[in-house]
Amino acid sequence: MTSSSFWHEDAGLEQRPPLQTDVDCDLVVVGSGIAGMSVAYEAARFGWKVVVIDRAETIGGVMTSRTTAHLATELDDYYHILIDAVGEEDARLYHESQVAAVNRIEAICGDEGIEADFKRLDGLLVPAELAHLADVEKEYDACRSIGVDVQWAEDAPIPLPDGGRALRFPNQGRFHPLKYIRGLIGAVEARGGKIHGSTVYVDHGEDAARVTIETEAGPSISAKAAVFATNSPVNDKVAIHTKQKPMRTYVIAGPVPRGSVEDMLIWDTLQAYHYVRLQPLGDAQDLLIVGGEDHRSGEATDMGDRLAHLEHWTRARFPCFGEVRYRWSGQVLEPVDYMPYSGRNPGNRNIYVHTGDSGQGMTNGVAGALNIAALLFGQKARFAELLNPSRKPKPRRLCDGPRSRRQELQRISDRRRSVVGRRAEARRGRDRSPRPLQDRRIPRPRRDFGAAISRLHARRVPGSLEPVRNMLGLPLPRVAVPAGRQRDQRTRD
Ligand SMILES: Cc1cc2nc3c(=O)[nH]c(=O)nc-3n(C[C@H](O)[C@H](O)[C@H](O)COP(=O)(O)OP(=O)(O)OC[C@H]3O[C@@H](n4cnc5c(N)ncnc54)[C@H](O)[C@@H]3O)c2cc1C
Repeated sequence: MTSSSFWHEDAGLEQRPPLQTDVDCDLVVVGSGIAGMSVAYEAARFGWKVVVIDRAETIGGVMTSRTTAHLATELDDYYHILIDAVGEEDARLYHESQVAAVNRIEAICGDEGIEADFKRLDGLLVPAELAHLADVEKEYDACRSIGVDVQWAEDAPIPLPDGGRALRFPNQGRFHPLKYIRGLIGAVEARGGKIHGSTVYVDHGEDAARVTIETEAGPSISAKAAVFATNSPVNDKVAIHTKQKPMRTYVIAGPVPRGSVEDMLIWDTLQAYHYVRLQPLGDAQDLLIVGGEDHRSGEATDMGDRLAHLEHWTRARFPCFGEVRYRWSGQVLEPVDYMPYSGRNPGNRNIYVHTGDSGQGMTNGVAGALNIAALLFGQKARFAELLNPSRKPKPRRLCDGPRSRRQELQRISDRRRSVVGRRAEARRGRDRSPRPLQDRRIPRPRRDFGAAISRLHARRVPGSLEPVRNMLGLPLPRVAVPAGRQRDQRTRD
């Protein structure tokens, strides 16, 4: 078993030498994942002189090599939630951006002769429990209201709860991400583009006409424009980072006999949802690739348990699943309003950024590249306002609503699991067997009365302690209140 991704093991990664001398170009792209290579391709195809740099030795070797590469136009946060956040018109436009991305990947594979195992297939959203059917029905209505092609399905490759049904989304896609990146590398270089690994961006400057990128080893790049496609933006420390949060997600993969699992994208409705696809593997087998078990980055340390539970989940639903041959994990960035930030960087003129992909960075990266390319070339950019990195989330969705309740439950669950995981690990000592699934209940949130009392004590307003004391039926220590404060309090009363 390996801890690197199947894609990496299967196709390897291209390497390119570091930048050695100062260069002038039309466009410099920092980051060689799906987003960076896609925008580099669009610019090179338009006739621009392009330079791509990446801090890694390899090209496309970071998150893009750890993806599962579902090319989904259905939104993993659900369209009914997106409509709540931004309204029907923007949700419709966002869906169009995803359709445009899958179409673009298909067209590029055709135009450039890239053999990346691209395939159109159905996607299936399966309720994990009957109680989730109401959400699935909401999603059906939302999709219909914004023109998403969706149908009910009575069968699914994983068991449906009694009385449940699934949603089928035709015309989704899948591909081999690293074969695709290799194709883009060839297409960019064939048009005179230069790609450099082991070249670390450290700083930049901008004047009215040019952007300068400084690299750690010394050489600099002067360009008409720069695109930062580093997944987590390295050019900006605040503006965008406050609008997204990092989540870690896990993947296992193993062989199944060809034909034993229907070839489609499958997603369930759990809080950390499972995502499943096939990848052809020789003549008689497919590789079943299953992801899930997400948590907020830094809030859990039980990776072994999570991978074990992923395997348990998989074996319970796909008895034909062979040995786990690959397992890996990676990070995605969840934007507060579910859509990526892609376009002109806040406060800059000729600097662009792409980030905030959520679990849909393959399609978002390509849609973002189309958007940035249109802005660069002065063309009509249909998604420019929608994906504008300077946008503010619409206020009504920031604090309440179904999404934030889900996030809160997820946060509580993750925190508890990391504590429970550490304790269980300590108890088990060398025994690495996974906790039983029943342990993984989401606890009901408990109010922290101790903290509430301390806060009230700190405020030293005795009247405010009364409701808490009544509520708890507890005697509370008397608090000395300064005379001035008592007067203030009486005046307010
Ligand atoms: C396990 C997993 C499963 C996923 N499944 C799916 C899926 O099914 N479908 C889907 O659409 N999306 C999926 N995603 C999301 C998707 O893979 C990512 O959003 C996408 O790959 C991000 O691409 P990127 O180009 O923005 O970033 P990356 O691929 O990470 O590329 C960024 C590059 O920037 C470089 N860089 C960073 N800092 C510097 C610097 N200072 N100087 C120079 N270079 C720098 C890095 O070395 C890196 O190569 C998944 C993600 C994970 C982790």
